Parts: sequence; C-alpha cells; structure tokens
Amino acid sequence: MKVIYPGSFDPVTYGHLDIIERSSKKFDKVIIAILNNKSKKNLFTIEERVRLLKETTKQFPNVEIDTFSGLLTSYVKEKGCSTVIRGLRAVSDFEYEMQMALVNRKTYPEMETIFMVSRAEYVFLSSSIVKEIASFGGKVTCFVPKVVEEALANKFKGGF
Ligand code: ADP
Repeated sequence: MKVIYPGSFDPVTYGHLDIIERSSKKFDKVIIAILNNKSKKNLFTIEERVRLLKETTKQFPNVEIDTFSGLLTSYVKEKGCSTVIRGLRAVSDFEYEMQMALVNRKTYPEMETIFMVSRAEYVFLSSSIVKEIASFGGKVTCFVPKVVEEALANKFKGGF
C-alpha cells in the first residue's frame, strides 16, 4: 500500500523521522508531501525543506519526497492514493487532526487518515520549539539531525 505523509516540515525533526521510519516499515511506499503554502510563514523555503528531507531520509529506499499546494485531498487523488499518515503527539493535536480527517473524508470519501502515535521521547517535540531554541542560539542536537542543525545555525547567524 502507498501512503502519503503530509506536513510543513519546517524543518524536519526526529519526531517526523520516527514516523517516517515506522511507516516505511509498514507500507510499500511512503510519499512525504511538503506543503508549499505561500500564506503560511515558513522559516525554510520549499527547496530547503526538500533538500533537508532528502538528506535525512536517503537510507529509506521506499520513501519519496514531493511538494504540493492547495487542497490535500486534490493532491492525494492526483497521486492515485487514498491513505494519509499523520503523527499524534498529545491531546492538543487531537482536535485539529480529527477536524481535518473528517473534512477531508467529506470531500474525498475514500480517503483514510491513519494516526501514528509519537514515541514518548518526542511527544513534546515540534518544528516550532526547535526554531525557537535555535533562534536564541540554543543547542538542538538531540531534536534534529546534524544537517538540520547546521541549516538552522545558518538561518539564525544574522539574527531574524
Ligand atoms: P503541519 O503544519 O501539517 O502540522 P508539521 O510539519 O508540523 O506539519 O507536522 C506534520 C505531521 O507530523 C503532523 O501529523 C504532526 O502531528 C506530525 N509530527 C510533528 N512532530 C511530531 C513528533 N514529535 N512526533 C510525532 N509526530 C509529529
């Protein structure tokens, strides 16, 4: 079965990579779909996010990186797929994820959203917290791979 794992990945963290590794073992193919939404303020450009994901997932042969804009349901249909993976951290993720899954199913009834529960050590981890720590010069070594850490250091070298 082919699945799509959509998100902003701004930037990719060990929390995302854990979901990617676990789904690559359970499914034949995993397409990581990076949302290219111009109205959302991202720290990294779409090209930078693609590069970081390519570098950090190259050990998984059945994982592919792609980008999309607009509606997730349209993209998923276009890819000839009907299953989406999302990571669940805490109760705080639940309401938003439930709403998205239900709305998506309304517009594309065959679409299923499968939730993978985060590993306990990554429950608190988000791209936002990593950006916040890095922006103040803090160490993010245990939250993101080295290439991402370097990319963050480069971004914040000159301040905001
Ligand atoms: P979005 O903007 O769509 O929430 P994110 O890049 O923040 O995109 O997250 C993409 C997906 O990865 C979401 O399903 C999110 O819940 C999941 N995710 C993010 N961080 C973690 C983590 N630490 N553990 C498990 N899942 C995570």
